[in-house]
Amino acid sequence: MPRKDVNFDEKAPWWSGGLYFSCASCGTCCGCEPGTVSFTSDEESVMARSLGINIAEFRSLYVWTKHGAPSLRELANLDCVFLERNANLCWCRIYEARPAQCRTFPFWADALRSRFSWDRFASSCPGMNRGVFFDRYEIAERLSKSPL
Ligand code: SF4
Ligand code: SF4
Repeated sequence: MPRKDVNFDEKAPWWSGGLYFSCASCGTCCGCEPGTVSFTSDEESVMARSLGINIAEFRSLYVWTKHGAPSLRELANLDCVFLERNANLCWCRIYEARPAQCRTFPFWADALRSRFSWDRFASSCPGMNRGVFFDRYEIAERLSKSPL
């Protein structure tokens, strides 16, 4: 997976004072609108193993091609195939095996581009700008692992 380095010796990024985030398990980032959930071949193996199936079965059941690349399937309601919902909460059926794209949200390059971008993401994620404080090193660590 590509890694993006953050050099604090250069001009400090706008988020160097830290950011707040605690997932509220609303499920919005895992569904509700068309999207792509990308993964590496290693991550695919981890997901398949977590479900007790082989790669061929995993691809057949849970993967399709979107924008020319493999992505986790979407259901008819546009939810990720691994999103589970009940009346009040959502959760990921493969949470411990989810790919980096999911693990690093919302600390994606797109969201961290500017305060404006961060707040634009936050307008659909009730977990942003609340809860746990992430310092610049924790943010940079997640950003470096994010494929987006
Ligand atoms: S949109 Fe935000 S609060 Fe909702 S599930 Fe995703 S990360 Fe959690
Ligand atoms: S794999 Fe899990 S965390 Fe990632 S989009 Fe699907 S339900 Fe959400």
